[in-house]
Amino acid sequence: MLLRHTPDAIVEREALTVQPAKTCQPVGAMYASLGIYRCLPHSHGSQGCCAYHRSSLTRHYKEPVMAATSSFTEGASVFGGQANLLEAISNIFNLYNPDVLAIHTTCLSETIGDDVAQIIAKAREEGRVPEGKYIIRASTPSYIGSHVIGFANMVKSIVEGFSEPGKKMDHINILPGFVEPSDMEELKRMVKMMGLDSVLFPDTSGVLNSPQNGHYEMYPKGGTTVESLKTTGFAKATLALGPIASGPAAKLLDTKCGVQYELLKLPIGIRATDMFVETLKRLGGVIDDELEVERGKAIDAITDMQQYFYQKKVALVGDPDQLVALTEFLTDLGFSVRHVITGTPGKKFISRVKEAAGTDAINVRESSDYFYLHQLIKNEKVDLIMGNTYAKYMARDMDIPLIRIGFPIYDRIGHQYFPTVGYKGALRLVEKMLNALMDYQDRYAPEEQFELVM
Ligand code: SF4
Repeated sequence: MLLRHTPDAIVEREALTVQPAKTCQPVGAMYASLGIYRCLPHSHGSQGCCAYHRSSLTRHYKEPVMAATSSFTEGASVFGGQANLLEAISNIFNLYNPDVLAIHTTCLSETIGDDVAQIIAKAREEGRVPEGKYIIRASTPSYIGSHVIGFANMVKSIVEGFSEPGKKMDHINILPGFVEPSDMEELKRMVKMMGLDSVLFPDTSGVLNSPQNGHYEMYPKGGTTVESLKTTGFAKATLALGPIASGPAAKLLDTKCGVQYELLKLPIGIRATDMFVETLKRLGGVIDDELEVERGKAIDAITDMQQYFYQKKVALVGDPDQLVALTEFLTDLGFSVRHVITGTPGKKFISRVKEAAGTDAINVRESSDYFYLHQLIKNEKVDLIMGNTYAKYMARDMDIPLIRIGFPIYDRIGHQYFPTVGYKGALRLVEKMLNALMDYQDRYAPEEQFELVM
């Protein structure tokens, strides 16, 4: 089994990563692009990269993910990809007719140094971009950053491409961060429930969790429309959820269009959701009875079951914005969060997690890998692991229950349909954690302690 031979002794490594806890920038850029209505992502690089990015998203969402590629071969690698991209732009608008083409780069086109802005300008000059169609672009070299950084770069490009300064209106912008379509749906529902108008972008709900209706639709009904994106510069405020995934776009909206922003944690758990709701209230929202009932139900479940969480040790692996909010939630539930690992770079992650855990006595690392996490767990075993599909190998090796959360999840479903944000998401997480711990307890309980009632 993979990782079976991981040694306990931790030796510091600088030039070697074993099973990085991240994937590549274009995957995140492609995901963000799919959150625009009638947008076709385009990978400026070789076919292999594009196939990998598409298959990552397809396997996670169980939906066909469409994207075009500049299809680099040896010639483009040596002489540059301008000719390929120009021809691709013509073909894409002629054959697939998207409203928006969202181009991201790959390691290869970045290394060559292709000037994508210049190529797009040339395509416009040559009449390859039809009237009323849009092209946005993001630089996403994968030898730095991660899928989360790629996502953040593309969201920033959406602001660059569509937001214009103008007279302020009453709506707010919500930048949801790199979360599931189900989470985006839930955020919209909560904002609407509080009586606020919003533009949430990108919005993959209705795109990557769309219903089966017997017909293939290249551009499903979901996604933020271009019309809505063009009003983002008129909003009275922006709520940016998760500083890594949403911070850069929020800052640009502020400097470009004067839309002030609030940077919040992802609303995972009671405390972070309360903060989200309080901020919406300050912006004119009203907390209605239904929302209070939802909160009350989550609190009730936590109160009833808290004794099963108390002092249980947990290890977390995944994306930085999720991990900070999860650390806070799990600590509030009584867990002892022991190890927190992300593959995404960013030194502030360490202090954010420690602050959320309320202690320095915790192993936190950015730009890290599964090998290191496995070693940490071998040195200090935990009762629960929360992370993506790749964590299943060490969970099996160490016989520790695993809750799948984050990206990618290739071997389960549910993440597309059921949120982890908001009070409903908190309740769902509590249920998942409790079931995982109870199932484990039942499996190993001696006959005389095998109880019918917990
Ligand atoms: S070459 Fe770079 S962009 Fe392409 S799949 Fe590999 S890491 Fe991703």
